[in-house]
Amino acid sequence: MRLPFGDTKAIRRTFFGEMDPDGDAKDVDELRLLRLLKARLNGQLDDVLAELGDPPDLNNLSPEFWDTEAGKLIAVIRPELERMTMTGIASAAAAVPVLWDEAVIAREAAEWAGRYVYDLVTGLDANTLALLRTVVSRFVQTSGMTIGQLRSELIPAFGERRAQMIAVTETTRAYAEGKRKVQEELQRGGIHMTRIWRTAMDERVCPICGEGALEGTPESEWGREGPPAHPNCRCWTVLSRLPD
Ligand SMILES: [Zn+2]
Repeated sequence: MRLPFGDTKAIRRTFFGEMDPDGDAKDVDELRLLRLLKARLNGQLDDVLAELGDPPDLNNLSPEFWDTEAGKLIAVIRPELERMTMTGIASAAAAVPVLWDEAVIAREAAEWAGRYVYDLVTGLDANTLALLRTVVSRFVQTSGMTIGQLRSELIPAFGERRAQMIAVTETTRAYAEGKRKVQEELQRGGIHMTRIWRTAMDERVCPICGEGALEGTPESEWGREGPPAHPNCRCWTVLSRLPD
């Protein structure tokens, strides 16, 4: 599958050659999320520039404006997170005894996606606003700067690279959450499993996941939450039976 950036092509394989069992599904979901995010961030940039006015004034971006923007972004991301979590659950469940009601786990996935997406979008919009503050105040202080220049300086917040980072990271997170849900349900049924970290090889230079730091380790040794460990992380987990 061809991804938008040659240097970020998904490698969902460990150094030892183990493949991510969800790799193909993730490639499709990640691209779909990327496409949706690109469109929404592009729309958000249009919304922001229209609201800022000319000359741009940050005071025009009211809390109500940001609430509406957050709502639009949540509407794009939440269903994708929920669906990917369910796919992660289904694929993990294929390899273990199913001890739960599918409806229960579907509700839990929906609840997680609904809670998490709010924090995600709040954080994204805070970073967007921080860049806006910097760029707009520079615009105000620099005579002769055009709205076109302002727009291009805002690309780091609204452009394809940010959409890509969010798509990669949140696909990783949603599938990993699916594995965690299965682990929790099994735990309730008296089957104790641990999650084992699998480091995607495209992170072999990353000191957090790569260089053997996390690859192959059980969660008791991670000292952190599950994947993603950082933006653009494509690591995953597998469930492994613990002795009773
Ligand atoms: Zn990673």
